[in-house]
Amino acid sequence: MNVFSDTAFDGHEQVVFASDPDTGLKTIIAVHNTNLGPSLGGCRMWPYASEQEAIHDVLRLSRGMTYKSALANLPLGGGKSVIIGDPRSQKTPELFRAMGRAVERVGGRYIVAEDVGTSPADMEQIASQTQHVGGINDGKDPTRTGDPSPFTAYGVFIGLKEAVRFKNGHEDLAGLRVAVQGLGNVGYHLCRMLHAAGACLVVSDLNTNSVNRAVDEFGATTVSVDEILYTDADVLAPCALGGVVNDRSIDKIRARIIAGAANNQLEADRHGEMLREADILYAPDYVINAGGVVEVYYCREGKPVAETNKHIEGIADTVREIFERADSQNLSTGFVADRLAEERFGKS
Ligand code: NAD
Repeated sequence: MNVFSDTAFDGHEQVVFASDPDTGLKTIIAVHNTNLGPSLGGCRMWPYASEQEAIHDVLRLSRGMTYKSALANLPLGGGKSVIIGDPRSQKTPELFRAMGRAVERVGGRYIVAEDVGTSPADMEQIASQTQHVGGINDGKDPTRTGDPSPFTAYGVFIGLKEAVRFKNGHEDLAGLRVAVQGLGNVGYHLCRMLHAAGACLVVSDLNTNSVNRAVDEFGATTVSVDEILYTDADVLAPCALGGVVNDRSIDKIRARIIAGAANNQLEADRHGEMLREADILYAPDYVINAGGVVEVYYCREGKPVAETNKHIEGIADTVREIFERADSQNLSTGFVADRLAEERFGKS
């Protein structure tokens, strides 16, 4: 089993392996960097095929949180946790209370939140054992549902508008064709905002009900899941899967801007360079999809939603700085984003 030599290790400050035989808990908590503040990141529950796979995933995700929070101007570092297990069959309240005790033992250097395979109810169990938990909705603010997706969508909307401004010289979305791949929690809210701003939507989802809703509510045009990436549009907003920008897709993408919520849209870093060569402006996913983590932080701090939204609007400044640097230095936006994050968190 490799930890220090894992390709995603990247100087992690701390990696904790914890277990609780009574509840079957097996967790890895990774704290990548706390230069800017305590690390915050979700707890993923997944039936990993091997312990090595779980280690690699938690290291990769926790490193990513350092970069995301730094570029989101949050006083937070990067961390993540994984629970090895099947969320469909192995969840119990006791398991999450044991997880809460494991988080508590890290002493506040890691703040846990929801992720794939975990829910607000699981966080409530964790919160019974530790205060180092985010994304808990105390019900005091009716505009706060506990769901970070509308905030993620707002950040993507802000980042997308800034990309349009950089490419077209103005941020008017009226009449602009935006292709949205995936109408889930984030994609739906993004469509709502784009429609209100006058954009023409082209949408696709595996789920027919989601597609029909976008047609009814936003007058969207639909295309098949095979066509959405290549449809005639000004902007492509991937909001479903990672890896959609790859050797097979780049030549066929007609949009001149890519700005969406999906994590890890580039299959490999070199695809960012290929987009630059193809004159496609790419708004790095982890920069513009940070609205959710901003909300988790503000909610935890007990600050009002209006402050969350104001902070999220700062994504425009960051993404503009990335576009300008990338343009003047002939570098890909993804490369520039990573260097800017490292400047901010003081990578040694
Ligand atoms: P979701 O699961 O609610 O929605 C994803 C949607 O994509 C589903 O409706 C699904 O049917 C659809 N889909 C899957 N494969 C598809 C395909 N081939 N073509 C078209 N549609 C397809 O997820 P979400 O919470 O909306 O998140 C969307 C993306 O944004 C994910 O990559 C997620 O990691 C990322 N993200 C989400 C948040 C958040 O706050 N929810 C924050 C940051 C990043």
